[in-house]
Amino acid sequence: MAAVRRFRFLRNPLATEIGGDVEAFLRYLDGPSCIFLDGADSGRTRAFVTLLHGNEPSGARALFLWLKSGRQPAVNTLCIVASVTAALQPPLFSHRMLPGARDLNRCFRPPFHDEQGRLAEEILEVLRLHHPEAVIDMHNTSGSGPAFGVCTHRDRHHDALVALFTERLVVSHLGLGALMEISEHNYPTVTVEVGGRLDEDAHRLAAEGLARYLLAERVLAEEGNEHALELFLDPIRLELNAGIALTYADHAAPDADVTLLPDVERHNFGVVRPEQALGWARGDPRRLFCAQDAGGRCAVSQLVRVDGGRLYPARALKLFMVTNNPDIAQSDCLFYAVAADQAPPGD
Ligand SMILES: [Zn+2]
Repeated sequence: MAAVRRFRFLRNPLATEIGGDVEAFLRYLDGPSCIFLDGADSGRTRAFVTLLHGNEPSGARALFLWLKSGRQPAVNTLCIVASVTAALQPPLFSHRMLPGARDLNRCFRPPFHDEQGRLAEEILEVLRLHHPEAVIDMHNTSGSGPAFGVCTHRDRHHDALVALFTERLVVSHLGLGALMEISEHNYPTVTVEVGGRLDEDAHRLAAEGLARYLLAERVLAEEGNEHALELFLDPIRLELNAGIALTYADHAAPDADVTLLPDVERHNFGVVRPEQALGWARGDPRRLFCAQDAGGRCAVSQLVRVDGGRLYPARALKLFMVTNNPDIAQSDCLFYAVAADQAPPGD
């Protein structure tokens, strides 16, 4: 059986050898790579994971700029750049994964039976060997929008990690097989969505946030150091049922079951009031959509209602990951939502 080449291991690559731009950098890596950087303090290690999704460039760009800067991180740093091959598939940064492959960020739990599963398993193994004090997994959202952090377990250490990048934190227990859900059991792990994959602001935040993460003497919480984050607790995904036709238009499209307004993305991280229409819909919302709360119960009627053919929020909601891309809406979800009057946590 042919040996499958997975990770390439590099240590302290020189600014002069990594290429002149991020594309040249990825060609230099030539596949999934693990870059170890010696820190000023060699007694601790942090991990930075990025490009789990090949169409999300900000993290790879930020790492390229860091390596170009020639600076040394405060502590040892393990940088994992995963979907290099998918990212290099032309046009650059257009493939979330290779055609026919599973979504790598849904593969961090058994069975590790296919190529993506084995890559995920190897990432977990590399992390286990280095036992980092923290893990940052950097992503872009597919649509435009502000940055936010995501974690599955929240405490002051996670707040401190997120605060290096953004003031918004989503706490979610969706159980999708994402890296953070698994590595969280061993090291504080935060997913950072730095913003839209095409946004210059996202690239800038990625570079600045990564530099803060790598240069700080301490990245975990210290006594008396509180971070006031805006929290989004246990968001619910609004998904489309199979066979339901969706489109985006500024009028009810005759051949669609659900029509969303083209500018629905503007509600990202804002509050949408119950009287603000999201678009149009035909029939019972529970026939069109599905949504589950954290207890596994149907939550469609908590999110949306149909009145006179128009689709409204069922109550004031905070929405995020709102997409106006029908492919993403069909294959993933239309948006995530929490109640706008969500009670603050009891701590
Ligand atoms: Zn991603």
